[in-house]
Order: sequence, then structure tokens, then C-alpha cells
Amino acid sequence: MSDTFDLVVIGGGSGGLASSQRAAEYGARVALVESGPLGGTCVNVGCVPKKIMWNAADLGSALIDAADYGFRLDAHGHDWKHLKQVRDDYVHRLNGIYAANLARRNVELVRAHASFLGPHTVAAGGRTLEAPHIIIATGGRPTVPQIPGAQLGLTSDDFFRLPERPQRVAVVGGSYIAVELAAIFAGLSSKVTLVLRHESVLRSFEPMLGEASLKSLQEEGVEIAMHSSPTGLTRNGAGALELEVAGGRRLGPFDAVQFAIGREAVVDGVGLDKAGVQLDAQGYIGTDKYQATSVPGIYAIGDVTGRVQLTPVAIAAGRRLCDRLFGGQEGRFLDYENVPTVIFGHPPIGTVGLTERAARERFGNENVRVFRSSFVPLYHAVTTAKVRVDMKLVTAGPEQRIVGIHIVGAGADEMLQGFAVALRMGATKKDFDDTVAIHPTSAEELVTMR
Ligand SMILES: Cc1cc2nc3c(=O)[nH]c(=O)nc-3n(C[C@H](O)[C@H](O)[C@H](O)COP(=O)(O)OP(=O)(O)OC[C@H]3O[C@@H](n4cnc5c(N)ncnc54)[C@H](O)[C@@H]3O)c2cc1C
Repeated sequence: MSDTFDLVVIGGGSGGLASSQRAAEYGARVALVESGPLGGTCVNVGCVPKKIMWNAADLGSALIDAADYGFRLDAHGHDWKHLKQVRDDYVHRLNGIYAANLARRNVELVRAHASFLGPHTVAAGGRTLEAPHIIIATGGRPTVPQIPGAQLGLTSDDFFRLPERPQRVAVVGGSYIAVELAAIFAGLSSKVTLVLRHESVLRSFEPMLGEASLKSLQEEGVEIAMHSSPTGLTRNGAGALELEVAGGRRLGPFDAVQFAIGREAVVDGVGLDKAGVQLDAQGYIGTDKYQATSVPGIYAIGDVTGRVQLTPVAIAAGRRLCDRLFGGQEGRFLDYENVPTVIFGHPPIGTVGLTERAARERFGNENVRVFRSSFVPLYHAVTTAKVRVDMKLVTAGPEQRIVGIHIVGAGADEMLQGFAVALRMGATKKDFDDTVAIHPTSAEELVTMR
């Protein structure tokens, strides 16, 4: 016998939790199937524990700066085990809060692996769940290079299981996750080598951000191994890891090799073939602007679609979809343009809108004007470390509409959200100039650039 619902959601991560609850708020009968801990990647092995590790590394820098501000402190190193414990405790509390939230909204939580039996039926934990609408929110997982010995390395999931901090670490990759993990390890005093295939990091972002990021990593003592494509990973006689890279060079020895080279969609074991759902050329579930897959009544949201893989994006896509399906908001969909994002490096990076290059391609060279600023913030006026802030505003057209905002430096993470609202609303450079500055802050530079 099958259980009938208005909506079945597969995956209780950022997107699945948000959409199931939004649908239930409209009175829909909803089942959510999750095979792991509630909260998915973000809560368990992503944004949340990562930000706690970033906070710790940030405090490490603050302790150094504190001496320049007159504090006489005796730091006795860092207790990784303690940090892991308090971090894991917090994540477990969140897992429980999510379960309680689902119960409060009458979403039926099925703790099982889900697999399609047909376009409207899903097998989960010995039950058959049936619904006219099914959302796939199965997320992604980290990939590792196809090289001998890859199993000796760590994925980002493994990073959060590390019982102690490795002293010597290779971080392989130029992605935002690679930059973040390298900055965390370095900030907590590991000796880090960042292993890059090319010469740069954050290649899909405004180049200024990657350049500033590499510079600050180097200033923190991170060694950069450029033009180094891994070809093998081995353990030497002393038990340490050695990374072989193209050309026969060997890097190391390391206590850990951290891979952060990319992610792939979780689509295996979901029975997509039984429902007829098609994948795109990259192995993601292809969707239209309404999150609809190739099969009527089946939708996909979040990382499994391969579009802007961020938690708030998965949440927004799921909520808008349910506003449309159950809330009577016809035509509602998520616009994937101008999504602001932060890379939690040291210092953090905030970016929204077009890179200078993309703006020139879209609007024509002569229609784009760029404003820049680079300065040592007041905080560092009296410190030995001089971590700069770099900003870039990209404008288009005679009215100089702001189409890109890129910031690297302390406070960029908190600064960007409000400016992203302005960009979305179509603010012009004149609107920025007409806004009275808040002094003394770094953010005021954004409204005083000439
Ligand atoms: C290290 C790291 C740091 C990150 N930092 C940030 C950040 O700072 N800010 C940000 O916005 N984003 C960040 N992200 C990205 C963010 O975590 C993802 O974009 C987000 O979690 C995607 O949500 P989702 O719902 O699509 O998938 P997920 O959160 O991955 O959830 C998918 C869920 O589906 C479940 N599942 C899969 N298959 C099945 C099945 N067959 N049956 C039942 N359940 C199933 C999984 O167990 C999982 O719980 C980070 C990611 C990583 C890896």
C-alpha cells in the first residue's frame, strides 16, 4: 500500500528543508526523505562548521594584532580537539532543531534512502510514497583526482572529521573551498602548501580577488606550488605523504593532503532512470527556470542542478518553487543573476554581479567604467600586519549603473549584503555618491570612490 502526499522531497539539506516547510505552511501534505543527518552539506560538512573554523583562525590573527594594541597575552597554542568538540556539539544541536521544526510544521520525516519507482512514486524505508509533485534535493559530494593513492588524501567532508590539526598540509585546488581551507589551516599555524594546476585561484571570479587572496595567503606563510597537477600520492618510509606532480616533481613530506578540486551531483542510487529524469552533459539534473526537470511533476533544486552552488540559492529556489506550486504565486521563480557570495579567506572576499571582463563583453568596452580603491584600513594603522582592503565597482552605461561590486578585506563579508540590495535595485554610481558615508569604516570607501 502506498502513502499519498501532495509533495515528496528527497534530501533534507538546505534546499529540501526549506521547500518542504514552505509547502507545509501552505497546507500541503509533505513527506521529506533524508538518509543522513538533517541539514545536509551546509550544516554538517559545509558553511556552518567551516565558519566556526574560520572564526578560530580569525581569532588567531586578532591575538597577534592584540599585542600591537597593548595587550600582554600569553597564548599557549590552539586546542583543535576542544574546538572540534564544541563545533560538533553545535552541529548536533542544529540537527535536532531542524527535526523539531519539521515536526512543528507537520512535515513527515522519513529517515531512509529514497529511490524512484516511477514518476510519481518513491521507495523509502520499506514504504512507497506517492505524490503529484516530487522535488529532488540530493545535493553534491566532493570529488578527488583520479590518481594512484588518492584515497590517502582528504575530502572537505574528511576535513571536518580530523581529530587533530596536521602540522604540514598540502591543499590541492584553486576553488573557493581550497582557499578557505588553506586560510584556516594557516591561521591555526599549520605549514601549508597550496598546490595549483595553474597560477591563480578563484578563476571564475573577478581576477583582483584571486590575486589579493594569493598575496594574503603568501603573507601568512603559505607556500604556493604553481603548475603542479597531481599525478600520484604515496606514503614514504617515515609515514609521511608525498605528492607527485606532473613532470615527476615530488612535493612534501606532508601530514595531510587536502583535496578541494570540485564537486559532483549526487544522482546515483536515486532511480532517476525509473522516473525518466535526464541529466545534463556535466552529470547534473537539468532544470528550466521553474526548476522543472524533463519529467512533469518532478523538480530539482540546489547543488544537484549544478547552478550557483550556495545554501541561500538552494533555499530560495525551493521556497519560490513551493510558492508557485502551493501558494498560488504563479510565475514565481529564482533569478540566478546577481547572487552575492562571500569567500571566507583571511581576509574575507565579497562579490556580487559582473566581473569587469564580463561587463565589457556584455555592454561594450566604451560603456563600462571601473572605480577602484586600495588602502590599509584604520584597524591596521597601528598593527605590524598591514592587511589591505581592495575594492572595485564596475558600472555600465551613461547613467553608470552599478553592475559589479568586488571587495577583499576585513569586513567584506558583512559589508556586501546591503550593497547587493542596492545593486539589485539598479543603483547608480550617483546613488552611491549621494549616500552619506559612515566614518571611520572601510565600507565608506564604496560611497566615496572617484
Ligand atoms: C566545505 C564547504 C563549504 C561551504 N560553504 C558555504 C558557504 O559558506 N556559504 C554557502 O552559501 N554555501 C556553502 N557551501 C555550499 C552549500 O553547502 C551547498 O550549496 C548547500 O548545502 C546545497 O544544498 P542542497 O540542499 O542542494 O544539498 P545538500 O545540503 O548537500 O543536501 C542534500 C541532502 O540529500 C541527502 N540525500 C542524498 N541522496 C539521498 C537519497 N537518495 N535519499 C535520501 N536523502 C538523500 C543527503 O544526505 C543530504 O543531506 C559549502 C560547501 C562546502 C562543501
